[in-house]
Amino acid sequence: MRGHHVTIVERADRLRGNGSPIDVRGDAIQVAEEMGILPALRDARIRMTEQVHFVDDDGTAIGRLPDDIGDSPDDIEIAREDLSRILAEALPEAVELRLGESVDSIAEHDDRVEVGFASGDPERFDLVLGADGVHSAVRRLVFGPERDWTRHLGLYVAITDMPGEADAEAERINPMYSYPGHLAGIARFKDRAIGVLMFASDPIDYDYRDVEAQKRILFEQFAECRSWKVQTILDAVRADPDVYFDSISQIHLPSWHRGRVALVGDAAHCASPLAGRGASLALTGAQFLAEELERSHGDHVTAFPRYEARQRPYVEFAQGAVGGGGALLVPPTREAIEARNRLLQPVGSAPMDPVSE
Ligand SMILES: Cc1cc2nc3c(=O)[nH]c(=O)nc-3n(C[C@H](O)[C@H](O)[C@H](O)COP(=O)(O)OP(=O)(O)OC[C@H]3O[C@@H](n4cnc5c(N)ncnc54)[C@H](O)[C@@H]3O)c2cc1C
Repeated sequence: MRGHHVTIVERADRLRGNGSPIDVRGDAIQVAEEMGILPALRDARIRMTEQVHFVDDDGTAIGRLPDDIGDSPDDIEIAREDLSRILAEALPEAVELRLGESVDSIAEHDDRVEVGFASGDPERFDLVLGADGVHSAVRRLVFGPERDWTRHLGLYVAITDMPGEADAEAERINPMYSYPGHLAGIARFKDRAIGVLMFASDPIDYDYRDVEAQKRILFEQFAECRSWKVQTILDAVRADPDVYFDSISQIHLPSWHRGRVALVGDAAHCASPLAGRGASLALTGAQFLAEELERSHGDHVTAFPRYEARQRPYVEFAQGAVGGGGALLVPPTREAIEARNRLLQPVGSAPMDPVSE
């Protein structure tokens, strides 16, 4: 807390743990160490992605991802529920965590920011830090509409829980099935299984908070496909009240601060799930911001540009590294799928290096 009085406002009424596992990697490992959470992250580490097998229409494995597509030994892959729990447990007692609350209005004055909440009276703060994700309300209220900052990468992704496929003893193979413009997969970690659906599309107009609308889009997209377990995954989507569905997009803003308000994490600079660096960028950004506020004795006019200068290179690298990842996962045509399959390694060939513990 570095001497600040901190209030965290979270829209959900609980800490959400759904979605696919995420990676803590690169300099974020050092940040985790300084936060004192590295041992807990290591204890909760899972290993999932090294056993991705592409399968054909009836589920026969046709090849696995090449060795250079995977995590480096330094990465810590962790379930979202564990990362969220570890971060919440690390909060000092004096931090106020308000669940089921969100920011409705932000009015800046010379010496304070007045924040209106969905369920209560406005309150005054010295600074507002918007860490509210790719669809940030803070960003919308202070920097303008989401469409001005969003770069759609041509894909959508959904993650659903599949309790029926969960089997802690099962062989750790994650099957993926492609047909033109679509990908379906199942991944297992801990005692859980998740279904993954991806499809290529131009931007779709829907309410991103409306889970039923999201499900309808998925049913329409995958309705025709009777191959492999695609319909089983759709059944899981039907039964899951908490499906994760979003476009694969990046956020590009010329500046992440305005007056007494600054953005952190995806709200400022989402690099997209294809980058695999969202959580790591959020951690390094939060660390730089805290350090710069401390160095400048709380003077945000000095601290915010310094935070941004330190964080930008990480973001530019992550956003630029996305490249052709989408085309590999979701090739647009049969020919492109066959070309991708030729790059796969035979199933049964030497496995990737195990991630060192
Ligand atoms: C439920 C969920 C599932 C996800 N699953 C995946 C996944 O499967 N694959 C993937 O690549 N990425 C996923 N992500 C995104 C990934 O977590 C982020 O890219 C990364 O962790 C960066 O973190 P962040 O804190 O900047 O944003 P996020 O992790 O998105 O966190 C933002 C937080 O702000 C809260 N919030 C949003 N709006 C408001 C508001 N108006 N007022 C108050 N609070 C608000 C959200 O509930 C959320 O807890 C998921 C995000 C969420 C919230």
